[in-house]
This record gives sequence, structure tokens and C-alpha cells, in this order.
Amino acid sequence: MFYSCGKCGAFRPDQIIDTEKNLVICPECGDARPFKRMPLYAIGGASGIGKSALCKAIAGKVNGVVVLDGDVFSDGKRYSTQNTEDFYENVLRIAMNISQSGVAVAIFHAGFGVPANLEHCIARRYFSEIHYLGIYCSDQELVKRLSTKSSAQGASGKGYITAMKGFNAFFRSYYSPDSQTPEMDKIDTTDSTPEKTAEKVIEWIQSKQS
Ligand SMILES: [Zn+2]
Repeated sequence: MFYSCGKCGAFRPDQIIDTEKNLVICPECGDARPFKRMPLYAIGGASGIGKSALCKAIAGKVNGVVVLDGDVFSDGKRYSTQNTEDFYENVLRIAMNISQSGVAVAIFHAGFGVPANLEHCIARRYFSEIHYLGIYCSDQELVKRLSTKSSAQGASGKGYITAMKGFNAFFRSYYSPDSQTPEMDKIDTTDSTPEKTAEKVIEWIQSKQS
């Protein structure tokens, strides 16, 4: 949508962005068009933590926000097509286009909770800010939750569980040491029911809206 210039036809993901007037400007011909520079909500957590269930529980509950489960972009082939630069660029581009209807997008996805995956993307510039939320629990609880996931989803095996414990620890211990590092809010779901966690996530989104 915004990468193709309506005047000269050039396809340029690196449109110039005027953040004061909210314009995208074609780098080749200078044609300027208004666009909505909206925030993005990036909610991450290890596999098994309950992101997909949260996404379903929250859909339709927050005015002005469209929620998306990041897994829908990879057609279930989660380990081959995700966690690549193209994946993050594409999902951000889709979210930015959805936001042109005047709604913010909240994406629930393991990798979207990792600021380093998003902050350098070309499409990142089209958002006013990205609010990060890390969902985590104790390792013991994570192992319990992972055991209920289907082995067909690749969620079994010692190596996998070890990797997810590491990812869980990333969210648990994340902190922003300086102004260059995005901040992340966190929710410990160890002793929380899915319903309670959903309420907390809704409150978190609403706290950022005001
Ligand atoms: Zn142009």
C-alpha cells in the first residue's frame, strides 16, 4: 500500500516519513501522502506459555485494537518460516496496513516479544511506538504447560523444552539498561488462570491507550 508510489510507481519500502505531519514521501519523486502512524503492541513469551489462548480471549474486547496470533502468518510451519528477517518485515507491513483503518494492532508471537527482532526493521519506522509485553512463568509451570501441547506441534523433546526454558528466562530477566534499549513490561503468569492473565493483558493495553 505505502511502499508503491501512486504518482511515479516506484516500489520503495524505505519511504521517507514525516513524523510531524504524518506523511510518507516517495524517495524518488517526492510525492507525499498522509498515513496513520499508530502504536503496535508486541506480546511475546515462550511456546507453551499460552499466547494463542490469550489472543483468542482478548479478541474483540479492546476498543480500537485488532489482535493477531503471529502463527497465522506462517501457516503452522512455525519453525521453518518464522524467525527470519522477512517474516518480521512482512508481519509489520501487514500490521501497518491494517492500522490505516484507524486501529492499532496487537501481535501475540514468541519472536515479537524480542525487541531486537523488530527495532531494525524498515517497517518499524511506520509505527509511532512499539509497546512490548513479556509473558512468563516459572520453569516448572512452563514444563507442565508444554506437556499439554500436542507433540505434533513439535513441542516435545528435551532439546525443545530446554530451548523454551531459555526463552522463558529471557522474558523473566529482560531489562532495559539504557535509553537505546526498548523497555518491556512483564506479566508473571505462574499462579494465574488464563482468564486472569487475559484481564491483565487487556488492562495493560488500555493503560497504553490513554
Ligand atoms: Zn514517486
